[in-house]
Amino acid sequence: MQRTQDRRIRTVLHGGIVRAECLAISSWCVVQWVIYSRQTVIEALLLFFLMIAISLVQTFTRSDKVWRLAGVIFVLVFSASYKFLFVSHPELYQAFSLAFAVIAVLGASLLIRSPHDYTVTALLTWLIIWPVPPLAVPDANLYVVIFALFSVALGGLNNYSFMDSLRSILAAEQQYRVMAETDYLTGIYNRRAFMARFERLALSVRGGCFLMIDIDNFKRVNDGWGHDVGDQVLCALARCLDQVQGSHCHGRLGGEEFGVLLDTRNTQEAVAYTERLLQAVRGCDFLPCRFTVSAGLVSFERGADVSHVLKSADRKLYEAKSAGKDNFKMQVC
Ligand code: GH3
Ligand code: MG
Ligand code: MG
Repeated sequence: MQRTQDRRIRTVLHGGIVRAECLAISSWCVVQWVIYSRQTVIEALLLFFLMIAISLVQTFTRSDKVWRLAGVIFVLVFSASYKFLFVSHPELYQAFSLAFAVIAVLGASLLIRSPHDYTVTALLTWLIIWPVPPLAVPDANLYVVIFALFSVALGGLNNYSFMDSLRSILAAEQQYRVMAETDYLTGIYNRRAFMARFERLALSVRGGCFLMIDIDNFKRVNDGWGHDVGDQVLCALARCLDQVQGSHCHGRLGGEEFGVLLDTRNTQEAVAYTERLLQAVRGCDFLPCRFTVSAGLVSFERGADVSHVLKSADRKLYEAKSAGKDNFKMQVC
């Protein structure tokens, strides 16, 4: 869960990080252009390409660790680049190093995911830019230390509050997504979530099989035992679907109709799965009444029209009902 959320935060931060890094690299280019110096042009170019390389690594890496490390290193190399500029231009060092350190430290606070990474980055940024030359006031270094600590604390607070809000928003989003995809009564996928997966599987390289299931004589269960027992039967069928191994996913299509997707076109495997499922339903004996199901099984190819597959499965289900219920019929496409 934490990992998934970390990945989502990375995705959310991605655009902002890329833009901020482009801005940082552009600022470096503009400053180099303004104060062009023949002696330092090679070093300036090297630092420029180094920043581009780190930014590219951070953009394209799949590893979370590398992504985090690249973010920290980018800020440090950016700071080191300006330190290099300041060292070769002492008049700029005197005038702008303090402002630069504050901008770098506060700017990074919204772009680094973990408060720990941020604190390390902010402190190292100050150390790289250090020492800020003495100002024309007594105890200038003491004030600079206080200033540095204050800026790191403020940036840390920004970072913590921003990431905490982001985590809360993403957790709420995840909760709403689960609610939007879950059938309230049985806890399995609802029709919307199931159909979305069906569409995806139909577009996948393999194709697969679809099983449409309907509880037999369900009206009689409701009429004879009451609606609450009918609900328990629906939940019991959902538990059977959870327990019988071999499906890609399953969901409640509506009422007492359920769907199962198998990510294989092998008819033997599909038949074996369906037989196991029907047997599991027959063996479900903790309810006040026994129940059975009938099913229509249809295989489909890659790119198949999902509504067409549903219709075919419905026809096969009807045949299974007509043939006496508690069985299944199959169509191979
Ligand atoms: P068949 O074997 O031909 O499928 O007969 P059947 O009695 O199952 O027939 P039908 O499909 O017409 O019955 C569906 C019943 O399912 C009607 C409806 O009241 C009931 N039903 C639909 N949703 C729910 C639900 O959420 N809970 C309960 N308890 N019953 C439901
Ligand atoms: Mg029905
Ligand atoms: Mg029925």
